[in-house]
Amino acid sequence: MNVCSNCGATLNDNASFCPNCGSGVPAYPAYSSKKTPISVGGWIGRSLIPCIPLVGGIVYLIMLFIWSGDTNKEETFRNWAKAQLIVTAIVIVLTIIVAVVFGAALSDLLYYLS
Ligand SMILES: [Zn+2]
Repeated sequence: MNVCSNCGATLNDNASFCPNCGSGVPAYPAYSSKKTPISVGGWIGRSLIPCIPLVGGIVYLIMLFIWSGDTNKEETFRNWAKAQLIVTAIVIVLTIIVAVVFGAALSDLLYYLS
């Protein structure tokens, strides 16, 4: 069931124009996207990349960066890639902070113990 974008009148599914106000109705307005969805295999591949030690993480970051700017991809997917990039960046920064703080604390401890 479609609704006229101009006046809000309920339209017949096959209507090419609104019987109430006469404005044209675009064909399949909600399904105009020609972008193909990502297959299950595609998602498995994407999920496995970061599991490869060292190289996988770097490749994954590069691919996330490419995906986040790829306008051929679904906007949802691009937003997901951007979110993954931001989360990864936060995790890396937190890891460095924790490593520095704990590293300093540990070296102090070893110094006092020796
Ligand atoms: Zn209308």
